[in-house]
Amino acid sequence: MIERSLEGKSALITGASRGIGKAIALRLAEGGCDVAINYVADANRDNAAEAEDVAREVEAMGRQAMTVEADVTNLEAVETMVQAVIDRFGALDILVNNAGITRDSTLKRLAKEDWDSVIGVNLTGSFHCARAVIDSMRERRSGRIISIASVVALSGNIGQTNYGASKAGIIGLTKSLAREVARRGITVNAIAPGFIDTEMVRAMPEEALEQTIAGIPMGCLGQPEDIAAAVAFLASDEARYITGHVLSVNGGLYM
Ligand code: NAP
Repeated sequence: MIERSLEGKSALITGASRGIGKAIALRLAEGGCDVAINYVADANRDNAAEAEDVAREVEAMGRQAMTVEADVTNLEAVETMVQAVIDRFGALDILVNNAGITRDSTLKRLAKEDWDSVIGVNLTGSFHCARAVIDSMRERRSGRIISIASVVALSGNIGQTNYGASKAGIIGLTKSLAREVARRGITVNAIAPGFIDTEMVRAMPEEALEQTIAGIPMGCLGQPEDIAAAVAFLASDEARYITGHVLSVNGGLYM
């Protein structure tokens, strides 16, 4: 049974129309939280309908939900999004930096634009969101910032210098920010997932995926709900004394 330990809290989850972000939104709502579901609409994609579906699932659990469009690489759009969430819910207690992309290639062939886009979404996007929420969390002397890093930040991975650097950057951001705001009642933590069964991982070539799974001590991919459970814990009052931590959720892949 899920404890409703997040009753009365509100959360913003970036990239929550699908994958791990969607599981986090649903898990936080199950815990009693109102949730804002961020998605992107641009020339290449529009996940408004998927985000609305997640919102309806949240509302069916008796919680408030809102969808908010914003590209996390755009600071102005992020600031507008955060203000809209605060206006709607009255406050923002929990930020989950989940939005992320991969553009894999060995360094030899890595195009600068693929370096820039991965750093831009994964790392700079997390900075933008943290920057946009920090003043109101400081004023209220409470808050949770949880960012989704990756096992790749810790172990490295061939073909992922851009992704690994962006996720290692998230860990550096997390630890420094944790120190800056520790006395303000705000905790800042990261989660380092291993290989989780989402579109991002299903896009891997089949053979590479099979090899990856064979190397996981638990012998299987993780599920988005495994990451969502870790987020729910770090967001809860029970985790009040945990900050600057990187929680691995990886089936033993990297210890
Ligand atoms: P996913 O299914 O590809 O979903 C990625 C999410 O990020 C989507 O909702 C996407 O939104 C959003 N996003 C991408 N660019 C964005 C932008 N500029 N602004 C706002 N949102 C943006 O990936 P996932 O597997 O759920 O991954 C979620 C997070 O976990 C990522 O940070 C990823 O790096 C991390 N992670 C995943 C794994 C894994 O094995 N799956 C392992 C370690 C870490 P749209 O749908 O609107 O494009």
